[in-house]
Amino acid sequence: MKQDFYEILGISKGADAAAIKKAYRKKALEYHPDKNPGDKEAEEKFKVAAEAYEVLSDPGKKAKYDQYGHQAFDGSGGFGGGGQGGMNMDDIFSQFGDIFGSAFGGGGGFGGGGGGQRRTKGSNLRIKVKLTLEEIANGVEKKVKVKRKIQAPGVSYKTCGTCHGQGQVMRVTNTILGRMQSASTCPTCGGSGQILDKKPSEADAQGMILEDETVSIKIPAGVVDGMQLKVSNKGNDAPGNSVPGDLIVAIEELEHEFLKREAENLHYDLYIGFAEAVLGVSKDIEAINGKVRIKLEEGIQSGKILRLKGKGIPSINGYGSGDLLVHVNVWTPKTLNKEQKQFFEKNLEDDNFIPHPEKSDKSFFEKVKDMFS
Ligand SMILES: [Zn+2]
Repeated sequence: MKQDFYEILGISKGADAAAIKKAYRKKALEYHPDKNPGDKEAEEKFKVAAEAYEVLSDPGKKAKYDQYGHQAFDGSGGFGGGGQGGMNMDDIFSQFGDIFGSAFGGGGGFGGGGGGQRRTKGSNLRIKVKLTLEEIANGVEKKVKVKRKIQAPGVSYKTCGTCHGQGQVMRVTNTILGRMQSASTCPTCGGSGQILDKKPSEADAQGMILEDETVSIKIPAGVVDGMQLKVSNKGNDAPGNSVPGDLIVAIEELEHEFLKREAENLHYDLYIGFAEAVLGVSKDIEAINGKVRIKLEEGIQSGKILRLKGKGIPSINGYGSGDLLVHVNVWTPKTLNKEQKQFFEKNLEDDNFIPHPEKSDKSFFEKVKDMFS
């Protein structure tokens, strides 16, 4: 079980942006690799804190996390690149400019002692996956074809002469405050510290080719239209010493023929005949995993809502399932033959045909109120 992001940063759920930032700054300084050389546990804590901050500092991601927890980003396990956070060290340091100002971060200044081979990250790829309600209810594994940029077989890179592999160049400018030194991304290698050495003829100017790859994506049950899942390292690769970007999978929900979804609940409109309502009847309902037979007692009222517990969509957090709500609609005959007409006319004033709503026959508004409480 993954630790709660708020717990990791040692803050409460109500913490505002400033408090989140402050808490992260404290943790990052405490577990920074430069302060804890060779300490794997500190490094892990450092990564985990960065991951927590990455989510909680982004209002959109924070809202998703508050609603769906870790599953909103990681799926049920296949995602996020293994047990630890989906972020690599480059991601973390690139987030530092915002937290510590230009003193830190700035681009590659980190990793100090080790001689810091910087690894560039390739760009993310985005795809949309259309899912039926059945697939959403049960979870599904989808195989998708993506065209990824990868380094061509046989390509080789050498250390960039401009920056000597640092990925950045220092510029000295004279200002009224004196000489200022600033770092900027190396214009020759684009920050990777390496440039193309040899490449096969079919590769582009950076030694890259496009390759078709089939990626298998495990989609957990209960995903929501518009939700984005991340498959780590299945995006484009970059030239030189690099790690691939991620594959971002956007979920699109296809409309169901009979069922309407509302969060984890499903709604089904059932039409029964007037005579069936009077006499009682059994009906088959198109539920999400096949038909379900329900029995309607005699004298059922139009507008009644029957709740089939647990026949809705599973919660993405794994906390049970929603319900299937069957809305009963009594169909009034539009035309009658002579005999039928006489029957109803004869009974028009009969007490059985005159409405006598009881407390149990709640009004429409009371039922709606019940459904949301
Ligand atoms: Zn360079």
